[in-house]
Amino acid sequence: MTGTRLLEAEGLAKHFKLRPASLLGTTRLVKAVDGVSFHVDAGETLGLVGESGSGKSTIARLLMRLVPASGGAVRWRGEDVLALPADRFKALRRDMQMIFQDPLSSLNPSYTVGESIEEPMIVHGAPPDRTSRRARVRELMEQVGLDGSQAAKYPHEFSGGQRQRIGIARALAVDAKLIIADEPVSSLDVSIQAQVLNLMQDLKDRYGLSYLFIAHDLAVVKHMSRRVAVLYLGRLVETATSAEIYRRPAHPYTRMLLQAIPRARVPTPGTPRTPPATGEIPSPIDPPGGCPFHTRCPLAETRCRRDVPAFREIAPGHHAACHLV
Ligand code: SF4
Repeated sequence: MTGTRLLEAEGLAKHFKLRPASLLGTTRLVKAVDGVSFHVDAGETLGLVGESGSGKSTIARLLMRLVPASGGAVRWRGEDVLALPADRFKALRRDMQMIFQDPLSSLNPSYTVGESIEEPMIVHGAPPDRTSRRARVRELMEQVGLDGSQAAKYPHEFSGGQRQRIGIARALAVDAKLIIADEPVSSLDVSIQAQVLNLMQDLKDRYGLSYLFIAHDLAVVKHMSRRVAVLYLGRLVETATSAEIYRRPAHPYTRMLLQAIPRARVPTPGTPRTPPATGEIPSPIDPPGGCPFHTRCPLAETRCRRDVPAFREIAPGHHAACHLV
């Protein structure tokens, strides 16, 4: 089973039209996600990393059809997800679940946690009888490190880390094959983050799960992922194995993210040394021309302001979009 292609995104795009500020103004197009391609195989974790505003969460929502795509394709085991009729997509949703950054806002406050975990089982009709579902709820709560006897409590009665465990139990309730985890630990204290990440790793090993693990923190992504995809202003700028990204980061933006990790490991000798990049990610409403990173890149030269660098393979399995690599 490991190695089977589960999810594939090809040229995925999400463009928004911005209304003109005045009657005589022109409509502008915001490219929140612009031609992004990646895949996740059975049993693996792909880390998707980038700053806030890079398009990570929009990609998660496109994959789950929570927002319509402007272009590109999403395939689940080869099947065209974006073209599936609603009833077929509902069946597929059982295999592909999502956990969110803020578990409190993703749990219905008027439901007990038991009801929240039971809800996806009711939606997907498994198991069909209430007694079995309730037994499964208790079992799932124990599996994620919660006390099954607390199923009648409400979300606000749990801590942030416990609520994230409830979110994970909900995803497991229908035997998901792939979990899209959108910044699952960024709202938690560092000590709690490690516990939730270890739980996710344990569950992955136990059930052969796959994750699309989305985060802004490259250290967290490295801990979880076999491969890493780096996103900047809605486009991929580098993809490689986690080990390769840390040993030989090619793109200046990836190096900037690595430098942001406290006491980051010194890259292998031979890796180009780059002065630190500065500034904030530009608004996707008015993105820079040429290489989208040129306004912050310490290595930018004339052609970077003019030409968009191609995303190309620079070593086996290692892709980057930079004129200098
Ligand atoms: Fe920097 Fe130019 Fe490479 Fe873009 S193409 S990352 S601006 S060196």
